[in-house]
Amino acid sequence: MSVKKNKIERRNFLKYLGAVALGSGFKNLLTIKKRNVEHLIPFVIPPKGVIPGVPNWYASVCRQCSSGCGISVKTRELRAIKVEGNDNHPVNKGKVCVRGQAGLQVLYNPDRVKNPMMRINGKLQKTTWSKAINHVADKLKAADKDKVIYLGEPQRGSLGILINDFFSKFGVNNVYYHDYFDDKASESANNKSFGYNATKDYDIGNAKYVISLGANFLQNGANPVKHSVSFGEMRDRNSGNEDHRGWLTQFEPRMTITGATADDWHPIKPHTEGLIALAIANIIVEKGWYDKAVEGEIKGWEDTLAKNDAQSIAKKAGVTALVLEEVAEKFAHSGSSIAICGGSGTAQESGVFNATAANILNHLVGSVGKKGGVRFPAPSDLGVATQVMNYKQMKDLSKKMGDGNIDVAFIHNAD
Ligand code: SF4
Repeated sequence: MSVKKNKIERRNFLKYLGAVALGSGFKNLLTIKKRNVEHLIPFVIPPKGVIPGVPNWYASVCRQCSSGCGISVKTRELRAIKVEGNDNHPVNKGKVCVRGQAGLQVLYNPDRVKNPMMRINGKLQKTTWSKAINHVADKLKAADKDKVIYLGEPQRGSLGILINDFFSKFGVNNVYYHDYFDDKASESANNKSFGYNATKDYDIGNAKYVISLGANFLQNGANPVKHSVSFGEMRDRNSGNEDHRGWLTQFEPRMTITGATADDWHPIKPHTEGLIALAIANIIVEKGWYDKAVEGEIKGWEDTLAKNDAQSIAKKAGVTALVLEEVAEKFAHSGSSIAICGGSGTAQESGVFNATAANILNHLVGSVGKKGGVRFPAPSDLGVATQVMNYKQMKDLSKKMGDGNIDVAFIHNAD
């Protein structure tokens, strides 16, 4: 190495640097291990049916809630990249809500749980699938089968059949389903009124007048996407038929999204939804505005309904008697009216009473089983979950667990 006036020449400096690097790195070079070969372009020979750069669409069903909207999932190189509504699906007619759109996050969110977790010394810790499966199998084998429960979200189709079969093979009979959004009060009321033990469907798209008793049907409930689509159809001015434009009257204790969209909104005192329905029914009967097909039944109802006169109910509910009379007149004469009770109307101790009162209203004006009225979907033949629990049953089960009477509990998306 030549040094001129305490300076290292550039050429020699590079040589020196190379020698030092080689000297210190030589040992490491000898110990470099062979790595797995990774292909930079894995789709040089793509799987069958996949063309790199060209999306494939798959029809599926959204499971982000129990509404079951039809979706089309866009995939590129076998990865799902977008969720859209399926135009051909009868429930949501091509639309999905934000929750459905965000369904992709189940696959890709960096904060999702990627491993099975086990609580060890009070702390949740990562474990392997084989350890987790063996642990669950051991617990299941050792447990008294009467003290094993499965509690999951309602299932239909093959997954529901699989879950039921799996537990029956182990002799476990306590297989329950719970849906936070399931409207058990409406189901009980439907069973009482019509002998139909399920949630009914509303043909809002063809209705001319809708009374909502606490039902926030555009935001939640049985299927907010379906109801939003049909509400748009009901209000469609582009049809060129002004006559078709439906009207929504909302009674509820606090303003909801549906209330904010209503044509007339009436704040009421909590727990008075059913009384309002009966007062409107009473006016319809008194004025003789009911459907003539129910004429024979009116005699039996008159006395009960008469106790709910407009003046006294209006006072209890915090509205005016005039409002009730106007609503009754519109409801009886629109030609296709629906009374929907839900939300604050059914999520309370008088829920069954309120929903039954709404059923009476629908029946009085002949809206049951009619276009633009209330419909009863045929039960699914794909294996519907049977033991859907109501709130009281859930409370009892939770007490049983708290008292130490359950050894093994499988909880599956039933938060
Ligand atoms: S309502 Fe929304 S979350 Fe529920 S199934 Fe439809 S798109 Fe999915």
